Amino acid sequence: MHFLPGTKTADSHWQFRIYSPATEMSSRQTRGIILRLTGHGESDKIVTLYSPDLGRVTGIAKGAYRSKKRFVNKLELFSLLDITYRPPRTGGLIFLNEAELENPFLTLRSRHNRYTTASLACELIMRFTGEHDPDPEIFAILLWLLESVNQGNQPLKTGALFHLRLLKSCGYQPDLGRCCSCKIRVNNTRSFALQPATGSLICNRCNSNVNTSGFFLSLQTIKFLQAAQQLHINQLQRLQMSEKSAREALQILYRYSQHLLQRDIHSWKFVLEDSTLKGEKNPAAKKRGPAL
Ligand SMILES: [Zn+2]
Repeated sequence: MHFLPGTKTADSHWQFRIYSPATEMSSRQTRGIILRLTGHGESDKIVTLYSPDLGRVTGIAKGAYRSKKRFVNKLELFSLLDITYRPPRTGGLIFLNEAELENPFLTLRSRHNRYTTASLACELIMRFTGEHDPDPEIFAILLWLLESVNQGNQPLKTGALFHLRLLKSCGYQPDLGRCCSCKIRVNNTRSFALQPATGSLICNRCNSNVNTSGFFLSLQTIKFLQAAQQLHINQLQRLQMSEKSAREALQILYRYSQHLLQRDIHSWKFVLEDSTLKGEKNPAAKKRGPAL
């Protein structure tokens, strides 16, 4: 370690930057979307991000509340950042040196139905991905959701499409082509339900309880989801879907995911509650909301 040449400040004090080859060489850069944010002590923040290079990682931003240059107004929920970080020596938290704001997605924090949908997406990423297990496809679909909802696309439909594509990326894509028992293709002469244990459809003739199981899907919703499984993410918003179908799709995907995860998904109920309210409200004005 040695001192680099100094510079003189306005009050005639010399400032020196401490140069450490090991520190400089180990600093790295990546992009990341903030999934969760908590305070730590008086001035630090603990930040959980999803990065295309690192996957889901948690880091500490030292002095986050004080450092205007490095962090202020940058470390906010859902923000897309370029971060400079130092990896941990052994497991543990990464050390965030600095963050540059690439996109704050401001409307996601100011309009309630957008906020709840973005919160659901972040919770699903938290639950379905492991730490330090990067998947650029998962980063891309999360970024797509945040951009789409921020631009004003229908939150419920976008949330359902995101959920379906996340399941695909994680290897849990539901089989929506035919009845898993009699193999008949999906058609309008029978009713079909998604079996949460297998992620496959079963028709009403093979399962007499299909209409009471709560997993029934209309033909329109099945066709929509089939198309959504095939399209490139840049084409997903071309799909037309009624709000009723979007709610139905979200509900079935929620129950399927609940079974896969063996736990509840807290943000989900806020998304559906919110979709019944008229207009968009500021989340700060609402007493209850998802806690990630
Ligand atoms: Zn059947």
